[in-house]
Amino acid sequence: MLRWLAFVLLLIASPALAREMAKPDLVLTGEITGADHQTYKPVTFDVPAGVTRLSVAFDYTGRENRTVVDLGLLDPVRFRGWSGGNKKAFFVSAEAATASYLPGPLPAGKWTLLLGVPNARPNSKATYQARVWFERTPTPLPAALPPNTFPRATTPGWYRGDLHMHTAHSDGGCVTGDAPRAPCPVYRTVLAAQAAGLDFVAVTDHNTTSQAEALAELQPSFPDLLLMSGREITIFQGHANVFGPTAFIDFRLGSRTVPTIRDLQRAVKAAGGVFSINHPAVPSGEQCMGCGWTAKDTDYDAVQAIEVANGGNEKAQGGFEGLLSGVPFWEAQLNQGRRITAIGGSDNHDAGIPHDQPTAVGRPTTVIHAEGLSPEALLAGLRAGRVFIDLDGTRDRVLDLSAAVGGRGAVMGGALTAKPGETVTFVARVAGVDPAGLEVIQDGARIAPAISAAGGFEVRMGARAGWVRVNVRDKAGRLLMIGNPIYLTVAH
Ligand SMILES: [Zn+2]
Ligand SMILES: [Zn+2]
Repeated sequence: MLRWLAFVLLLIASPALAREMAKPDLVLTGEITGADHQTYKPVTFDVPAGVTRLSVAFDYTGRENRTVVDLGLLDPVRFRGWSGGNKKAFFVSAEAATASYLPGPLPAGKWTLLLGVPNARPNSKATYQARVWFERTPTPLPAALPPNTFPRATTPGWYRGDLHMHTAHSDGGCVTGDAPRAPCPVYRTVLAAQAAGLDFVAVTDHNTTSQAEALAELQPSFPDLLLMSGREITIFQGHANVFGPTAFIDFRLGSRTVPTIRDLQRAVKAAGGVFSINHPAVPSGEQCMGCGWTAKDTDYDAVQAIEVANGGNEKAQGGFEGLLSGVPFWEAQLNQGRRITAIGGSDNHDAGIPHDQPTAVGRPTTVIHAEGLSPEALLAGLRAGRVFIDLDGTRDRVLDLSAAVGGRGAVMGGALTAKPGETVTFVARVAGVDPAGLEVIQDGARIAPAISAAGGFEVRMGARAGWVRVNVRDKAGRLLMIGNPIYLTVAH
């Protein structure tokens, strides 16, 4: 429903969707004349050191005269690809590239944009323009790709996704057709996400981002499902997802290159990533080596999210609640004054698992209120914390929370200042389920304020800073949705 609506809005808003492109670092221009007919024209340019993604957008005039220009690329050492006349824009980076092009290191020096000219009439004259972007810390999406290559809904709203899944690029396996069970190709995960009605996924294979290339190839065929590459940093002391960057992040904790967990966290921060601790309450030992979070000296101020609901845990204990739940671990951090967003993830390892079964893609779904459907907006939304977890992975359940005191207001993930003894008014908004199942949690303990039919309730500000959040349960008491807090700070 949301997806459909977003899609319609996307169509309506399409002129506004034209992507705001960053200024190119280079603009290469020139002429194509009859003399170029059936020749290759090298256009060289200098790539500086330190570039980790190179994007090119190309266009030319003269089509009315049947001028045709094909496109290829060489770096100072190697051939990097040929797209002929089939793409107007492409990118290459260390770990991924537009189909037709080869990922790999981007050496500094003379590169060549290779223009092939299958046809130029004898007296014709056309012009070409190649815009080139150099990125050193790549943004989630390449600068040069044309509008609508990726879902770019600009409508603020709730976007539903799965932030934890595995494919053939780590230990994901599935059965496809009559073939025996095999490492599960990325397209199966993407099809499962589409079938679940998700707006976005982050594919988080263990310690690698080799899945990024497959996602880049699939993305244009899934115009309303945003495909992000993440990774599950997998160390002997626990697992943490990193969302955002796709370049290598050294995970060899304890080695000379990454002496401490704080060094690893600093590297994630420097790359602009969101650091999210996964299934923190799983015991570590020979049964599941390094699964629980035991990394000593973790900088929890550099943790933006905690996976409090994990599909694998649901499967292991027959529900999201129990000893394996990450909620107590997360709430203990909140009680120390930290602001960390609770998220969920299916931890899917088999894209063929039916949607009503634990660990299916999209079960649970993390629902992020974002300014639009783009990696930048989703990561900003994750950090801001207007986020809830839909444990059954439905398409329509919503849980939101707002609060007000003394004429000031805040939404879920935000903060509000109140004087001790002041009454803070909250409103919980629930859709898709019976709001009678609302429960209110203050500083980790369930409280029982009177809740109006409209979801309103009051909390008295205590002497110390704290937080208030809501969950929703069904009539039988089963947890359906987990909400993030509104933080209360003391006014002096
Ligand atoms: Zn894990
Ligand atoms: Zn995992």
